[in-house]
Amino acid sequence: MNIQKQETYNFKSEVKELLHLMIHSLYSNKEIFLRELISNASDAIDKLRFISISSPESYENDSDMNIEISINKAQGTIIISDNGIGMTREDAIENLGTIAKSGTKSFIESFKKEKNGNNSLIGEFGVGFYSSFIVSQKVTVRTRFANTAHTEGTLWESSGEGEYNIKKITKKKRGTEITLYLKKEEEQFLDIWRIRNIISKYSDHIMVPVKIQTYDEKSKTYSWEQINKAKALWTLNKTSITKKEYQEFYKHLTNDSNNPIIWSHNKVEGNQEYISLLFIPKKADWDIWNRDNKHGLKLYVKRVYIMDNSNEFLPNYLRFIKGLIDSNNLPLNVSREILQDNRITNNLKQALIKRSLKMLEKLAKHNVEKYQKFWNEFGLILKEGPAEDSKNLNTIANLLRFTSIKNNSSEQTLSLKEYISNMHEKQEKIYYITADSYISAKNSPHLELFKKNNIDVLLLSDKIDEWMMNYLLEFENKKFQSISKDDISLNKLTEEKKINNHELETKIIDFLKKVKNILKDEVKEVRLTNRLTETPCMVLSDSNEMTTQMAKLFSAAGQKVPEIKYIFEINPKHKLIKKISLIQDSNELQEWIYLLLDQALLSEKGTLKNPHQFITRMNQLLI
Ligand code: ADP
Ligand code: MG
Repeated sequence: MNIQKQETYNFKSEVKELLHLMIHSLYSNKEIFLRELISNASDAIDKLRFISISSPESYENDSDMNIEISINKAQGTIIISDNGIGMTREDAIENLGTIAKSGTKSFIESFKKEKNGNNSLIGEFGVGFYSSFIVSQKVTVRTRFANTAHTEGTLWESSGEGEYNIKKITKKKRGTEITLYLKKEEEQFLDIWRIRNIISKYSDHIMVPVKIQTYDEKSKTYSWEQINKAKALWTLNKTSITKKEYQEFYKHLTNDSNNPIIWSHNKVEGNQEYISLLFIPKKADWDIWNRDNKHGLKLYVKRVYIMDNSNEFLPNYLRFIKGLIDSNNLPLNVSREILQDNRITNNLKQALIKRSLKMLEKLAKHNVEKYQKFWNEFGLILKEGPAEDSKNLNTIANLLRFTSIKNNSSEQTLSLKEYISNMHEKQEKIYYITADSYISAKNSPHLELFKKNNIDVLLLSDKIDEWMMNYLLEFENKKFQSISKDDISLNKLTEEKKINNHELETKIIDFLKKVKNILKDEVKEVRLTNRLTETPCMVLSDSNEMTTQMAKLFSAAGQKVPEIKYIFEINPKHKLIKKISLIQDSNELQEWIYLLLDQALLSEKGTLKNPHQFITRMNQLLI
């Protein structure tokens, strides 16, 4: 006789930790286990449909695919069964004993941070199967791979505490059958009406029939009742879909518990035939800044599910958009390799970018408040746009939001259109400054002249800004100008005449000569300025030099940057300058001049090459 041996395995350590977390910290909304198991069953059916397209002869396949759920009150169990792809023994060990996803650690961290164990995170992260242990003391999985060469089935069994058992079994029906042995205190889930409600809540958008077994008292017979419509929402006519239905569909598609901010549903006929349904979420995914963050659309071809996270259809700077694309032109056996570098993909991508940007324009125009919320959440990502997508530069620029001198708050609410409409009548350029923080941008001495002349300046202090400004060269025929760079156009603007050397006292000219002599190796140029009011001096980058922020960006990225030689500007009307210019002793004068230069450099860069020297010098002079 062939006795089937049972083998015991340990869960991987991160699974143990996760199971522990889930079992002990989830008190509300426990019903999501059913959503997760139905979603897995539906995925398994999608996978079988998809895989049997390319080799129909190797797979058991029929048109009667469905998910069945039954309750056994006497035994205290719920059984969820599907006739999808199923699993081999190795699959079961791999899929139900480990977590394949990267970033498990950071997930566990963010999960712990949310006090009550925010369970919307579970679905988001895709550890759905383990959620069955929230309500079960034991879970068994009976499964058989749908490939016709695999006749042997597998039994997987665990109480969720460190180990699971595996055993060979015979299973007639292909697919997976999961039995939950409910904990005593969770027997509420044995109520058929309760389960029926949960199923209808979570399965409306599942494309395969989800059925529940009911018992008829009169005839004493069991029968199956289909609960969901099992029709793809995106194929329906826009006008027949309610707002609520879109929202529910979004939640189903993304596992997000918030409603989306806005969506765009389009059916296109003709050369390229496709349906797209794009959503803008309210909140960014917890891992949106991770390098290996999975984003992209769900791809369908002629209503058949092909893959998740297909990022070939949207650029990186729109990676916060979620949704699906259903194409009639792509082949059913399409793979990631085929998708890349494919003319159809490319056309679709261009079309979807247009749709996404239109959707944002619409939001910006009709709902300023919601757009602001969007910007606060995703603005930093959209700022990658100018560098990534030169074709749509103007549209993207129009969607950007800034803060400025006049804005008087760090919140970025000003559009470029508004900036231009408030420009000084003689102003030709859009002025901006980049700095490490809003405070340091706002208090930069470069702004003094602009404040005095009532000219607004954009204050940029996000890390990405300097890089973005390399690609944002003009908007509506107005050039962008960094005010920490030398710029002759400014003279035209300001009412004050350029300082005329002849009018200056010879003393000052003499002083300037001395300064030039002292600093000849340190700076590119020394000159007098009328830009300053409160500050004695400052430094500027030459118009063809790298700006300070750019140099910082490069060196932060580990690149060598040549030292910037600045233009040193002196405000001859400042009291301190007037005083210093009277100093006769050349050594003392030299110390003062170095101090002035260091001050200007500190204000520009936020750091000094030799801070100790600066302090010693200042203390000496103070004494
Ligand atoms: P996810 O669904 O995000 O992959 P889950 O924890 O829900 O994560 O499931 C883990 C894996 O277990 C699935 O990816 C799948 O490979 C396998 N699996 C779970 N349920 C089934 C099922 N009903 N049929 C086949 N495979 C399944
Ligand atoms: Mg799942």
